[in-house]
Amino acid sequence: MASVTYDHVWKKFGDFVALNDLNIHIEDKEFLVLVGPSGCGKTTALRCLAGLEEVTDGQVKIGDRVVNDVPPKDRDIAMVFQSYALYPHMTVFDNMAFGLKLRKVPKQEIQRRVEEAAAILGIEHLLKRKPRELSGGQRQRVAVGRAIVREPKVFLFDEPLSNLDAKLRVQTRAEISKLHQRLQTTFIYVTHDQVEAMTMATRIAVMNKGILQQLDTPQNLYDKPANLFVAGFIGSPSMNFFPAHLRKDGNDLFVDTGDFAVKIPEDRVKTYAPFAGREVIFGIRPEDIHNPQFAPPGIHAASVECKVDVTELMGNEIFLYMVSGKHNFVARVDPRTRFHIGDKVQLVFNMDNFHLFDPASDRENP
Ligand code: ATP
Repeated sequence: MASVTYDHVWKKFGDFVALNDLNIHIEDKEFLVLVGPSGCGKTTALRCLAGLEEVTDGQVKIGDRVVNDVPPKDRDIAMVFQSYALYPHMTVFDNMAFGLKLRKVPKQEIQRRVEEAAAILGIEHLLKRKPRELSGGQRQRVAVGRAIVREPKVFLFDEPLSNLDAKLRVQTRAEISKLHQRLQTTFIYVTHDQVEAMTMATRIAVMNKGILQQLDTPQNLYDKPANLFVAGFIGSPSMNFFPAHLRKDGNDLFVDTGDFAVKIPEDRVKTYAPFAGREVIFGIRPEDIHNPQFAPPGIHAASVECKVDVTELMGNEIFLYMVSGKHNFVARVDPRTRFHIGDKVQLVFNMDNFHLFDPASDRENP
């Protein structure tokens, strides 16, 4: 078992900066998810830790040991790849045993470890099959099994669920969480899927363009995004953003988008008063916009006139794509809502849960 540290890590490919001064400390037994859009450097970060890429500058540590110059096989980590990378001509047993044979682990010990891992993953009955005789989900388990038998200090997963269908992905997600609890080992998991990140991680590192944007618990990322990028990346559908002006009117403060204005609740006026007169970006999540008929009681509600552009019935909720003047936004409303395309309606914004960002710095104000 071990902690992992990225200490001022840079990775350049020629002039291209893939990792820009990455600093992350991952505690022992943590389940850290690296998340971000395609090309943000997640896989590169993982490969630097695995020893498959050399860092350009900075230090990678496993426990207290700097591993920059340690060959991959001596780093005591195991990696599960997106492609699974199984050997097609070998049985499941041999695929799982291969790394141990190379390390000259005694035969009996190999047998024990493979059987134990197969039992954890429920693939005991598949040990004699070849990869081509397995479903995608079964192959994925074999790839995980091959990592388990190594008994590594750190598990690395690089988008291991992306080749599975939606239903299997949800199921396997829960299994990987259970596996983490059972093995009590450090997991580092790369994905571009924020739902995967939110459901599995103890903490999430959000990356963009090689730069760490925020490292925090799933709840804090959702409630207190550090900047516009994180606010827009975490949550589905994404947070709505409106360029706006913060207008003071007597003792009241309004966020004025030009098409509609919403009042800031009294208990937050003091916080935002210093920004009065400034341009801001107003952010509100689709789940904080309600049909007034079904709005939660006791909220600071601000009414907004708007027109229904598209409706999507999701079963337990409805996504409404709305237009108000030049602004478009999405609301996630109660499924009993009976609105039709073209209807002019009032929706309410829950002003207990809004965000204001500074357009110059992208950061949340204050
Ligand atoms: P994805 O989700 O698409 O896998 P990622 O966040 O994992 O994306 P990386 O694979 O880490 O992204 O790549 C980060 C950037 O570095 C990309 O722009 C990629 O093109 C570039 N890159 C990665 N490996 C190399 C390489 N060997 N040579 C040159 N550029 C590279």
